[in-house]
Amino acid sequence: MPVIQPGGKVLVSGANGFIAVWVLQTLLEKGYSVRGTVRSASKAAHLDSLFKEKYAEKWEWVIVADITKEGAFDEAVKSVDAILHMASPFNYQITSPEEAIPPAVEGTVGILKSATKFGTGIKRIVVTSSIAAILEVGDMTVPHMFTEENWNNQAPALVEAHGADAGPLVVYCASKTLAEKAAWDYCKENKDKISWDLTTVNPSFVLGPILHEVASAEAINQSARDWYQAVLAPNSSGMSDERLAREPSGSYVDVRDAAAAHVLALEKEAAGGERFLISTNFYVYQAWLDVVQDVLPSIQAALPANIPVSRLASLPKGVRGAGKGAVRALDFDVRKAKRVLGMSYKSMAETAEDSLKDYLGRGW
Ligand code: NAP
Repeated sequence: MPVIQPGGKVLVSGANGFIAVWVLQTLLEKGYSVRGTVRSASKAAHLDSLFKEKYAEKWEWVIVADITKEGAFDEAVKSVDAILHMASPFNYQITSPEEAIPPAVEGTVGILKSATKFGTGIKRIVVTSSIAAILEVGDMTVPHMFTEENWNNQAPALVEAHGADAGPLVVYCASKTLAEKAAWDYCKENKDKISWDLTTVNPSFVLGPILHEVASAEAINQSARDWYQAVLAPNSSGMSDERLAREPSGSYVDVRDAAAAHVLALEKEAAGGERFLISTNFYVYQAWLDVVQDVLPSIQAALPANIPVSRLASLPKGVRGAGKGAVRALDFDVRKAKRVLGMSYKSMAETAEDSLKDYLGRGW
């Protein structure tokens, strides 16, 4: 028996984010009712333009202006069957731990507390965590495979020791570790009071086409922007060939697969009490440059006619094949998500094709 089924109502926090809008679309297409939370009404206008006409009474949004405020989600959780908590700061412009850690931790614990008090019909809560809460950076010349058993205790220790000087990426990783740990601790401490179980989804770097509102290429969310800047930025990847060939020695997941994972994590009974690494492939950026060059001829007809030939010619090429055999220092064992959730993933070519059509089509 699925934990929840189409027809049920799901609360999605941070509903206007890159991954969240794909989650909304996936849920609505499957027949769920969805209530999204946004920080202000202006952030919901684009969501209404996507969903209001097509899904009428199945789509609604509410404002939760400050997720760190005690009881912020008390109203939002009423009369839903499940929650996907996605709101959390993710960007490398974070200037201090205070900017990221309180919203990540207090937002997560806050929504769990509200669900305990007012979410009488809630059966499952899925928190969007990250590989950031799992991986610790070690010797990058040695292959390493991470699993759901691993925790990133390194980032919180670095933030503890160095504060803002630990840097935005480390602060972000610490925020994800501390938020996820706080969620599991809350469930343990309150197991007699809660009617729901917890699942975390831990995606790797999320890439792919965009549904959320973005004003310009510079304003894309952090992960897709990194990809755009390395792979599609006109004239230059902004990285040396040597760096393109080796960095990041990490993994990505298509945003549509990440969205599907969230919905499966809500539905699958056996997912309760589990964390899931969600990731497609190890990559170096050069591999993306090669795939882009490979798919470009076949998708040119699908691109808007006004894209100048010079734009396509300007795409960075790097050195074909460089980086093959790069050390898989940050690799992930994703067998659990396949086994329990039934995850399968889009190919690199599919992600590249759809991202190209989307980003170039917007004139970026
Ligand atoms: P995104 O597009 O930047 O969306 C972030 C969402 O969180 C937005 O709705 C944003 O609202 C909200 N948010 C950010 N800071 C907030 C704060 N201080 N208070 C309340 N809400 C806040 O990012 P995303 O990539 O979709 O990320 C969504 C979730 O996935 C996050 O939990 C992130 O850690 C996780 N994740 C992302 C990746 C990735 O590669 N993208 C990988 C693993 C996990 P505003 O628009 O109002 O700022």
